[in-house]
Amino acid sequence: MSTTTADNVDQAEVKKFEELASRWWDPQSEFKPLHDINPLRLDYIDSAAPLAGKQVLDVGCGGGILSESMAARGAHVTGIDAGKAPLEVARLHLLESGLEVDYQQVMVEKFADERPATFDVVTCMEMLEHVPDPSSVVASCAKLLKPGGTLFLSTINRNPKAWLMAVVGAEYILNMLPKGTHEYRKFMRPSELEECCRLAGLGVTDLTGMTYNPLARTYKLNPCDFDVNYLMTAVKP
Ligand code: SAH
Repeated sequence: MSTTTADNVDQAEVKKFEELASRWWDPQSEFKPLHDINPLRLDYIDSAAPLAGKQVLDVGCGGGILSESMAARGAHVTGIDAGKAPLEVARLHLLESGLEVDYQQVMVEKFADERPATFDVVTCMEMLEHVPDPSSVVASCAKLLKPGGTLFLSTINRNPKAWLMAVVGAEYILNMLPKGTHEYRKFMRPSELEECCRLAGLGVTDLTGMTYNPLARTYKLNPCDFDVNYLMTAVKP
């Protein structure tokens, strides 16, 4: 791990995404899983916190798959990421989609100092498992929310089944993701993520699993099975 002390960022992790960035919007590329899960998570967010007209921040937005889809639902979206190349791709893609998203390369901790209590909705999806200190990210997300605002998180659970499905299955058997995409020790149990939310002054209001059927190659939200991938909703009082 190559973490800079000043920032809560693992440069080796960011580099992985920089190298793949040109393929971000290819739905058959390494980013296929993000394209496939996007409609599910978008509806999950939009039904809990209707997006139209809202100020929304997408933390660790990458090439902008979720950011753009939230803008298409009428949200005013800002997307931030530690990587440069994914944001370049995200900005280029706006020319194609005609949507508006404000993309900025800035650390969430710094952005929270600059823009506290600014956003109605903050999303941070599939990113916590790539940072050295996820609790610091959650605390910054909480600071960025207006009172009454909603935070949506997603990450990968830590247990033998999650290792088998998300690492061995996805990277070594099904070749859905490049080998080394995910490190097991960075996965987080829902109880651990809930504790991060609690320490950040947020109340968790929902936990929902996301399951993958390798035969049908489809994803589904499942409120009862969060053994591998899951989404969490938390609200700022
Ligand atoms: N959230 C997007 C992209 C997930 S990929 C989606 O779900 O569609 C993970 C992203 O996290 C990458 O774009 C990577 O550059 C970013 N990332 C990794 N470490 C980060 C950090 N410390 N701060 C901000 N972004 C980070």
